[in-house]
Amino acid sequence: MNSNQCSFCGKKRNEVQMLVSGQNGFICENCIEQAHSIIKDSVSESGFSSAEHVSELKKPKEIKEFLNQYVIGQDQAKKQLSIAVYNHYKRLLHAKDENREVELEKSNIIMIGETGTGKTLLAKTIAKELNVPFCIVDATILTEAGYVGEDVESILSRLLMVADYDVEKAEKGIVFIDEIDKIARKSDNPSITRDVSGEGVQQGLLKLLEGSIVNVPPQGGRKHPDQKYIQVNTQNILFIAGGAFDGIKEIIERRMNKQAIGFSSEKINKLDEDEYILTNINAIDLRSFGLIPELLGRFPIITYLEKLTKETMIRIMKEPKNSIINQFVELFKMDGTKLIFTDEAVEKIVDETMDKGLGARGLRGTTEKVLEDYMFDIGEDEEIILTNDNILFNRKI
Ligand code: ADP
Repeated sequence: MNSNQCSFCGKKRNEVQMLVSGQNGFICENCIEQAHSIIKDSVSESGFSSAEHVSELKKPKEIKEFLNQYVIGQDQAKKQLSIAVYNHYKRLLHAKDENREVELEKSNIIMIGETGTGKTLLAKTIAKELNVPFCIVDATILTEAGYVGEDVESILSRLLMVADYDVEKAEKGIVFIDEIDKIARKSDNPSITRDVSGEGVQQGLLKLLEGSIVNVPPQGGRKHPDQKYIQVNTQNILFIAGGAFDGIKEIIERRMNKQAIGFSSEKINKLDEDEYILTNINAIDLRSFGLIPELLGRFPIITYLEKLTKETMIRIMKEPKNSIINQFVELFKMDGTKLIFTDEAVEKIVDETMDKGLGARGLRGTTEKVLEDYMFDIGEDEEIILTNDNILFNRKI
């Protein structure tokens, strides 16, 4: 062996910074780095995005089972999402087949539901299961190109960032666009004033959604003439949009009542049920809300997330893999304290949170507040049992 050169690339000792010796050879720092990245890529390549055959993909039922571990309730949304994701990755496999005769089109998804019902959580959990890059963008920060705010391309900058600028990986990722309802058309007559944060953004999004090659500024923000762009093909990126769509119920109701005219009046009375009305949501309602038809055409799957009931909120406290209760029990355990939540304490935390109207998002905050004094005095007790009586929402001074 030649102790003066790298056994892998053949570079001489004086051409490299370091040569590490092994039993039968040497390796330089460049080859170590290259080998490391090969290992890293092959490990992270496992999962949906690299499947070669349909049999390697998890079936919708299995995807839903995975979601069940993290997201409570929302069965209909979970089912639709599992099917959509399965079909999406099946489509990617199909696109590789050169003899294909039928083109399968992408099915992006819109999730409608009040704040804190699990829209983001669902999208995030799906991406975790699939081991693909995932990013969340807020539609409200986007504006039409040339106006104050971010261009729509900045969405892809974020995806690139989480994919470590690996373009191929980013091109199979998932983008969650939050608050899509906030870019609804402001008025029925778009010609009065320019609607740069509403319809303009919707038009801008179309380009990304329909699958095209987009020039992406690597650092995000605004496009700049001197900047170098990275080209990203959005054809295989799955877009999931979410929004609360305040007032949509009335829109659906109006449509349904209209349709029901001529039917029995009994049918109209049945419409009283809020949930029933909302489960009937379709693209026509979203159009009346102010989303443009072209955009809706790119989101063929519309799913509705139910309002969280007290029972669901209690389950959210207890059941998910990383439930709030488990997290705090673990935190106290580190100081040798056994923390016990009685059912009545959990119920009280849920009641308090529901009054705030933040959905499940508020549960953590309420629990933090309840435990504040205990956390301050941590290490002093061996066991803390939270009951109806010792749960405090107002701090001791
Ligand atoms: P949004 O619908 O506004 O996107 P999120 O998904 O961000 O709501 O929910 C906020 C938090 O509330 C989540 O991080 C999670 O802790 C909790 N949460 C909401 N809905 C659920 C649910 N169905 N199951 C479990 N946790 C939930």
